[in-house]
Amino acid sequence: MPQPYVLLSAAVSLDGYLDDTGPERLLLSGPDDFDRVDEVRAASDAILVGAGTLRTDNPRLLVNSPERRAARLAAGLPEYPLKVTVTASGDLDPTARFWHTGGEKVVYTTDEGAERLRALALPADVVSVGPDLRWRSVLDHLGNVRGVRRLMVEGGGQVHTQLLREGLADELQLAVAPLFVGQPDAPRMFGTGAYPGGPTSRLRLLETRPVGDVVLIRYAPTVPGTGGHPSAADRHWLDLACDLAAQCPPSRTAFSVGAVIVAADGTELARAHSREGDDPVVHAEEAALAKLDPADPRLATATVYSSLEPCARRSSRPSSPCARLILDAGVRRVVTAWREPDTFVVGAAGNALLAAEGAEVVVLPEYEPRATAPNSHLLAP
Ligand SMILES: [Zn+2]
Repeated sequence: MPQPYVLLSAAVSLDGYLDDTGPERLLLSGPDDFDRVDEVRAASDAILVGAGTLRTDNPRLLVNSPERRAARLAAGLPEYPLKVTVTASGDLDPTARFWHTGGEKVVYTTDEGAERLRALALPADVVSVGPDLRWRSVLDHLGNVRGVRRLMVEGGGQVHTQLLREGLADELQLAVAPLFVGQPDAPRMFGTGAYPGGPTSRLRLLETRPVGDVVLIRYAPTVPGTGGHPSAADRHWLDLACDLAAQCPPSRTAFSVGAVIVAADGTELARAHSREGDDPVVHAEEAALAKLDPADPRLATATVYSSLEPCARRSSRPSSPCARLILDAGVRRVVTAWREPDTFVVGAAGNALLAAEGAEVVVLPEYEPRATAPNSHLLAP
C-alpha cells in the first residue's frame, strides 16, 4: 500500500498558539469541537503524536464515543485506531497514559533510540527506520506494513511543521479558537523557516465550518514535489488529471487522458483532456500546453501531471508527440499514473524520452486504476 493520507489536526488561538506556557494544557476548543475531533479519530486508521507532546500533554488519544467504537468494530476495524509516536532519542516515559489505554501502539525511532527503548519494555511495537529519523520512512512503514490508509496527526508543532515542510501533509484541519495566548514563548502550530513554494504559495481551501464558538478550517497543500520525491499535493493533482480523463468524449481509437500543468508555487496553470473542444485527435498534454504562452517563465519549474505516460510517437497526426512538446516547453518534471501499453502505437512510451533528456518522471502506480477506468473498453481483459 502507498503512504497514508496525512491529516494534520490542531486547535489554535487567534494569535496562532497551540497552548500557553502554564503547567496545565490550555483547552482551546469547546465541547462541540472535542466531539468533532473524536469523530475524526474514529475515521482514522492511526493517530500520531510526537514524543514531545507525549511528555507535555500526556494524552490518551482514544475514541471516546462508545457508539463510534461500536461502529468501528461492526465495520471489522479494531475498536481503537493504532496509536503512533515518533522519537529519535528513545526518551519516553513508560508510565504515560498513551501506553496503558486504547489498542495497539507503535513507536518509530532510530537504531540508537531502539536500543534505549528495548530496556523500557513498552507495550508497543518498536520500529527503527535506520540511523536517522526520516518521515518518508515512517509513512512508508505505516502504509506498507501496518496498512494505514488514513493517518491523523495531533501534534505537536514541530511534527506539524516537519510534515508540512517536507510536502507530506495532505490536509490541515485547524480549529481556530476565540482567545489570545499572547505569550511569545508559547508553542506555535507552525515554526519559522522555509515552507514549500514560499510565502506567495497559497493552500487550497477545502472547507470552513463553525463548531460551537470555534471555526474549523480545512486546507490542502498545493505545491508539487521536487525531483523524484512525490509530495502529497502531487497525488491531488494526479487525481485531478484522472478526473479530467473521465471527461473525454468516448473513442474506440484513442485513449482518454487528462493533464494538468502546475507551477512550482502550486498555482494551476492549465488543464485539459483528450479530444477537447472541436479537435477530435488532440492529446491532453498538447491541449494543456497550447493554453499557455510558450515564453511563460513558470514552465521551467512547472510539473505536468498526466493520467497516461506522455506519448513519444503518435499515429493520429504528424505533429510532435507530447513528450517532445513537454521538453520543448522547458518543463522538467512529469508525474503520471499509467505506462502506455502498445494498444495503438507500438513503442509510444514517452517516459524514457523524458528521462533521457533530463526530465524527472515520477510514476504513482496507485492511481493506475483511476487512469485506466475510462479506457477499460480499449484494454484486453
Ligand atoms: Zn500525446
